[in-house]
Amino acid sequence: MREAELYKKEKNKVRCLACSHKCLISKDKTGICGVRKNIDGKLFLLVYGKVASMNVDPIEKKPLYHFLPRTTSFSIGTVGCNFKCDFCQNYDISQVSKQGIIFGKEIKPEEIVEKAIKNRCKSISYTYNEPAIFIEFVKDTAILAKKRGLKNVLVTNGFFSKESFDYISNYVDAMNIDLKSFSEDFYRKYCGGRLKSVLETIKRAHEKGIHIELTTLVIPGLNDSDKEFEKIARFIASISDSIPWHISRFFPMYRMLNKPITPIESMNRAYKIGKKYLKYVHLGNI
Ligand code: SF4
Ligand code: SF4
Repeated sequence: MREAELYKKEKNKVRCLACSHKCLISKDKTGICGVRKNIDGKLFLLVYGKVASMNVDPIEKKPLYHFLPRTTSFSIGTVGCNFKCDFCQNYDISQVSKQGIIFGKEIKPEEIVEKAIKNRCKSISYTYNEPAIFIEFVKDTAILAKKRGLKNVLVTNGFFSKESFDYISNYVDAMNIDLKSFSEDFYRKYCGGRLKSVLETIKRAHEKGIHIELTTLVIPGLNDSDKEFEKIARFIASISDSIPWHISRFFPMYRMLNKPITPIESMNRAYKIGKKYLKYVHLGNI
C-alpha cells in the first residue's frame, strides 16, 4: 500500500483522478475499482507492490503484432478494474476488489525489472486487469524499466483520465487499447464505462507518438453488425490507416455464458470491412 499521487482533496473527501470515473471517495471508502481508498483524508493505492498475476508472455499475446515481434514481455497485473464487463476473461482478479478482497504477491518495482531482464524480456506489460487503477505502481516500475533499456506496454480499456494519461505517457512505448464497441449504450450497459473517454485516449496516444494497436471482442448480437464494424474501422482510419485492428472471437464467459461463440462468418465479415479502410487487420482466438 502507498499513498496515491493522482488525486485531490475536496472538503473531507478525495477526488481520484486516475481514470475517467473521477470517483469522489468518502472516508474509509474505496472508488469503483475497489483498490483506491480514502484513509484519513488521503487516497491510498491498496495494490501498490501487490501483483496478482505475473508471467512471461509472447508480445503477440497482448496482442501486439507490430511492436518488438517475436520477443517476450514480462507481464504483471493486480486485482481490480474500473470496468465490470459481463464478458471479462479475468473476472477472478478484476472484480474481486469490489467485494473488498485484495491479494497478490508482494514485489517491488526494482524486483519486477530484474525479473524481466533475467527472463530476457524486451518489455514489461501492465496487463490482465486495468493499469490505470494502479498507475503509480506502473509509473515507478516503468521509470526503472526505461533506465534499464526495457520498453513499457499498457494493455488497457482506454478509460484513462487526461490527468492519468499525462502522468504516464512519457514512459509508455506501446499500448493495446480495447475498442469494445462503437456504442455508448454498450459501454454503459455491459462495461460500466463511456466510449467517449476511450476514443479520447486513443487519439491522445496516437498524437503522443505511442505505438497503438486496438482490439474488439466480437460478441454475437451485441456488437457484430456491419454498421458497427464500419463505424469502428472508419474511426480508426480517421486517425491513421496504419493502426492495427485486432478482431477477437468471443467464447462464453463470466456473466455471458448464454451467448454463443462468435461464428467464423462474423469474424470474416469484420475482417472484410476492416480491410476496406485499414492496412492491418488481424483475427484472433480462431
Ligand atoms: S481509478 Fe477510477 S474507478 Fe478507481 S477510484 Fe480512481 S477514479 Fe474511481
Ligand atoms: S476492462 Fe478488461 S479487465 Fe476490466 S472488466 Fe473489462 S474485460 Fe475485465
